[in-house]
Amino acid sequence: MVKAKLNINKDDKAKMSHFKIESLTLNNLSHYKTQHHFKRVGEIHNIDDLSEYCRWAEENNVKIYIIGNGSNTLFVKKNIQTLILKNKLDKYINPLPNNRLEVSSSVSIMEVLKYCYQNSLESFYYLASVPATIGGALAMNAGRGRSYGCTIYDFVESVTYFENGCTKTLQNSEIVKAYRETIFTGVHSKLILSVIFKFELAEFKENPLTSRQVWAKEHQDNIAPNCGSVFKTADFRILNKLKGFSIGKAKFSSKTTNWILNKSRNSYCILLLIRLAKLVHFVTGKEIALEIIEID
Ligand SMILES: Cc1cc2nc3c(=O)[nH]c(=O)nc-3n(C[C@H](O)[C@H](O)[C@H](O)COP(=O)(O)OP(=O)(O)OC[C@H]3O[C@@H](n4cnc5c(N)ncnc54)[C@H](O)[C@@H]3O)c2cc1C
Repeated sequence: MVKAKLNINKDDKAKMSHFKIESLTLNNLSHYKTQHHFKRVGEIHNIDDLSEYCRWAEENNVKIYIIGNGSNTLFVKKNIQTLILKNKLDKYINPLPNNRLEVSSSVSIMEVLKYCYQNSLESFYYLASVPATIGGALAMNAGRGRSYGCTIYDFVESVTYFENGCTKTLQNSEIVKAYRETIFTGVHSKLILSVIFKFELAEFKENPLTSRQVWAKEHQDNIAPNCGSVFKTADFRILNKLKGFSIGKAKFSSKTTNWILNKSRNSYCILLLIRLAKLVHFVTGKEIALEIIEID
């Protein structure tokens, strides 16, 4: 019997189903490096995968969480019931006319910034210290601190995403809702597929990537696992007083305000620090809101 040769090209691959749900114990899905037993973990390689996972989640009454690099994600419980879907879409950076770029959501911020620098383009170099995917940065409206008023959306023309079996494209003005908030934040049925950026030409006296990394070393505390800023709204006088305060193996950084360092395998101590900060704000009548996304 002659066996037919299996010839799979790239297009066929894109259409192949990668639907597979695994139970795994991992400590690398969040940048807090906490260890959890994930009851359901899957990978999205194409839009059909997401449709299949969504159907399965609906039938089994399970919540979905699309994860990029996990640099803004806090897993709450020891056993995570939510279906965690890793973004494994093909990576690409396609140059378009007029200094525009089409970029896949799975590409890292750093890869885009390196491209921009090499091609003399102005860009969001202040995100060179952020270990994020483009999808995560777009979902979170990532940018500099509130007072600077600049985010990745200063360079976004449009974003293409997939939801309910349809691919849709929205213009910049239809996406951003507020500081660190877009129509994608905390909404897990929408998968950002790609973005079109528009850049201006620039001349550099120094490497803006290196400058930002030097700045980050000086101002940010990366001596232990962390997810950057914890709260998007808070009273900084209170957060300054909490600097250096620790519970178990987690502590508010002594160096950087609004920053929790974690050396624990579980997230209880991080959660207690967050509750403490919320309690002090509540008692003093101040507003507080989490920037970190909590998942259980
Ligand atoms: C050292 C350090 C420094 C940081 N500095 C900054 C900073 O300067 N500015 C700033 O804004 N943030 C900063 N952060 C926070 C974090 O990096 C950002 O929020 C980043 O945008 C998260 O990207 P991610 O890919 O890791 O997203 P994740 O943590 O994986 O996910 C965050 C959110 O995005 C959603 N998401 C991810 N991918 C997709 C997708 N393809 N489609 C739809 N939704 C998606 C998730 O569902 C979730 O709601 C910092 C974090 C660290 C660890």
